[in-house]
This record gives sequence, structure tokens and C-alpha cells, in this order.
Amino acid sequence: MPKDEINNLALRRELFFPSAEIYSSALAGFWEFGPVGQAVRRRLVDLWRKELVEKEGMVEIDGAQILPEDVFKASGHLSNFNDPIVQCKKCHSLSRADKLIAEKIDDIVPESLATAELDSMIKKHKVSCPKCGGKNFDKVKKFNMMMGLDIGATGDQKAYLRPETCQSIFLDFRRLYKNHRGDLPLGVAQAGKSFRNEIAPRNTLLRQREFGQMEVEIFFDQDKIDEVPLFEEVKDYKLNLWPDGAKGTKGISCSEAAKKKTVSGKFIAYYLARVQQFYEKLGIPVKKMRFRGLDKDEKAFYARETWDFEVETDLGWIELMACNYRTDYDLAGHAKQSKQDLSVNEGGKKFVPHIFELSAGIDRAFYVVLDLAFRKEKRGKEERIYLMLPPKIAPFLCGVFPLVKKDGLLEKAREIFNELNEYSFDVVFDEKGSIGKRYARIDEIGVPYAITIDYDTMKDNTVTLRDRDSMEQKRVKVEELAELLWKLQSEKEKF
Ligand code: ATP
Repeated sequence: MPKDEINNLALRRELFFPSAEIYSSALAGFWEFGPVGQAVRRRLVDLWRKELVEKEGMVEIDGAQILPEDVFKASGHLSNFNDPIVQCKKCHSLSRADKLIAEKIDDIVPESLATAELDSMIKKHKVSCPKCGGKNFDKVKKFNMMMGLDIGATGDQKAYLRPETCQSIFLDFRRLYKNHRGDLPLGVAQAGKSFRNEIAPRNTLLRQREFGQMEVEIFFDQDKIDEVPLFEEVKDYKLNLWPDGAKGTKGISCSEAAKKKTVSGKFIAYYLARVQQFYEKLGIPVKKMRFRGLDKDEKAFYARETWDFEVETDLGWIELMACNYRTDYDLAGHAKQSKQDLSVNEGGKKFVPHIFELSAGIDRAFYVVLDLAFRKEKRGKEERIYLMLPPKIAPFLCGVFPLVKKDGLLEKAREIFNELNEYSFDVVFDEKGSIGKRYARIDEIGVPYAITIDYDTMKDNTVTLRDRDSMEQKRVKVEELAELLWKLQSEKEKF
């Protein structure tokens, strides 16, 4: 959907809006989630937790957002977490050099290219300033994106806001491993906020300075990269892979990808399958997804193998998750800096575990899900807008509406609402305005079902259940409502 449609809906229905908007000094790249937005975002993270953390037997932590300088010395962020920045000589606005060139040539430009190379590409492709159209730029410089802080009353303890959620997982590994009953692999997850001083925040949630990440770090023995007990479950499942150097995306089964060494081993193929399946559950069609294999210029400084999970939208392909084989880079780095032993001893073998990382953006997934769920239809003279969100991530599962407030209908509706709440369904109550308007209000925020309590309810204890997408309605006995809603939510039954 065109981004204006999403942004209008977001503002109209308080999905998300600029932070500190009542001040002219509001900062770019910071956003708030309103009641509906935060509900969808929360449920999206809950689904990630179910599908990629709990089902895979992983554990989850909630670490500090501020970490001491030593951590980022060891991780390499202080020396390497740089973006190439370029300033227009005419209007002095700053842009990301790689992104400016990429837009001009409609191709990928690795951010790690040498500054001199980026300078010559800017000249060669006659790149212009996005603000004033000027074509004269200063030389490209590297800009570190970490946000620093001085901690304590004397301010002598240098610290940083984390630029990714994973570092505390590496720092906590030794403690978590000790309490972990089995051997490796050990998967540890964390969802929370990350902070990056992005040069040019834009496209609302897609490039922010404070954003949500949900990350999984799987610690494993590199000699066992082909030993995956549950591999049978995914062996024939096709991954939409676009390996580095290949002409385009191809569906490749997990067994084939592992056998032909398109990926480093079964272990990688297995988790890529789980990732693709998770995004399918968010309602993203497989034909709009791809895992793009990054070449050596594009990969992050710590990665041996990287698959960016991308989704096609009106804004082009958007990266939602980076799947990085980080080797022992992190544990070895922290062991050296902290002078602690972070190796494990399994079956008499002492080694530093390798890590496969699934690093996802929460807000990018949220935005892309909205983009793909947005529907605008003409019905005669009327226009109908609705979000076709899967029930599991809709802000509420259903609305409960008394047809009128009199003759006991309001009380009966309240009773049904309370009971559904008791069953832990997310339900919204609305008694204001015509039924048509109430349906339209919840359609627009993607609530899949509506329950209407009318005069027949008072006679035979049935209600009308309405489906958002087809707008079909059927009568359901009140005593059968909870079970039916549960089946619809878990997609065990279609409307
Ligand atoms: P990009 O190339 O778009 O800058 P990245 O490669 O730097 O992204 P990673 O460091 O791999 O991103 O971060 C993992 C995930 O975090 C990304 O796939 C994305 O979903 C999310 N993410 C990263 N930076 C931002 C941002 N500035 N705003 C919103 N989400 C982000």
C-alpha cells in the first residue's frame, strides 16, 4: 500500500505517531505507539516468543539498555559501527552516502565500501542532494552511530545505549549455560529497545533512532553444525533463498540447501525454515519473501555468513531480520576484554561456542504487516477500509456490541464481554453509534470478529457473529462462543 495510506491510518487510529509532537524541538526518528498500535506490536512479539523461542526450547532474558564502554570495545562497535555520511555543500544537509547512491542506481551499495570509492560513485552517477538537488558534496566520512552517556554524579563512567539487544545475551552466556540442564545448543532470546544515531531517520518506523528488536542467539558446537534432532520436520520445506551471485530467488528445500552447501550446515537451514514459517504466520505471503545472501562487502564485520530476510512492499524490499553466523567472534571478544573464560567443556572437549543469530526488527515487521494487511474497497458509493490482520496479531480478537442500550441488551452484552475476558480473550466493548459505524471502526484496526447482542439474544441466548473479511454473519449460541472463538483464533477453524 502507498505509504501515505498507512501513515494516515496510523495517525487517524493512533497506531503510531511522532514522539514529543507538541514541541517544535521534537527529534526525528522517535515514535510513539498508541493503544491500538501497542496492542498489535505486543501480540507480534508474543507470537515471536511462541514460535521462535518457546517452541524451540529457548530461554528469554531482559537485559540492561545501558552498558559500559568495555562491552562495545570488545564487540567492535566503537571502532566499526560506522555509516558513511556525506554533506551537501549547498544546503549542508547530511545523508547516508551508500543509500543515496543506491537510490540513484537502483541497486545495493555496501555500506562498508571505502570512502574514496563512495566519493567516486557519487560523482560518476551524478548523485544529487535529496533536500536541495545540489550536486556538490564534501568528502564522505565515517560516522559512529553509538549514543554515548556519562554515568554517575561525576560523570566519569562512560557508557552507551545498546545499539542491538544481543550484547547482554553474550555477557550472560556463562551464567545461563551453567543453569542450562542440557548440552549445547542453547538458544537465548531478548526483545527490547535498541538505539542508533541514524544519520537520516526516515520512512517512519523503518529507520528510527530508537527501535524495537527481537533477537535470538543460538550457541552451538561448530563440529555439530549438521546435527539437528528436529531437521526431519523441515527437510522438505522450501526456503526462498537468493544466494550471493545467483540470478534470483529460488525455492530450495532445507535438505538441498544443506547438502549443496548453499548454507553452512543443517543447523542454519533449520533455523531459516523456522524464520520463514514465523513470518508466514504474520500473514506475509511466501512469494513476497526472500533470504538474500550477503557478499563479503555487505556483511557485518562479525559475520561469516549472513542471510537478510526481506519482504517486498511498495517501498521496495525491506529487511526485517538479519540471520548472521557470527562464529565465536562475540564470546572470544568478551573473554579477551573481560579476562574471563567463556569456553565450555562438553564431553572432554573445551571450546568457545559459535553463534547463529536471528536479529529481527519489531517495528519494521509491524509496519510491513500493516502494509500487506491494508485493504481499501469501493462498495457502491461507500469506501471500505480494513486491515486483514491474522487473528493472532490483531489488536483485539473481537468487538462486543449491544444493538441498543435499553431492554437489558447492554447488561447482557456486558455479561458476555466479561465472560470472554475471563477466558483471556482480548475483547473490545463498544455501545456508541450505529452498528454499521461500530463495524467500520473495528474493521479499520483489523479486529477479525464482532459479536452483536440483539433482541433475539434475549429470547434464545444466541448472538450474531460477524467476520471482518467476508462481512458474513451467523448466529452462535452464547455457550458455544468461547470455544468457537478459540478455534478461530488458533486458525483451527475457518469462519
Ligand atoms: P539497515 O541495513 O537497514 O541499516 P542493519 O543491517 O543495520 O539495517 P541490523 O543491524 O542487522 O540492521 O539489525 C537487525 C534488524 O533490526 C534489521 O533487520 C531491522 O529489522 C532492525 N533495524 C535495524 N536498524 C533499524 C532502524 N534504524 N530502525 C528500525 N529498525 C531497524
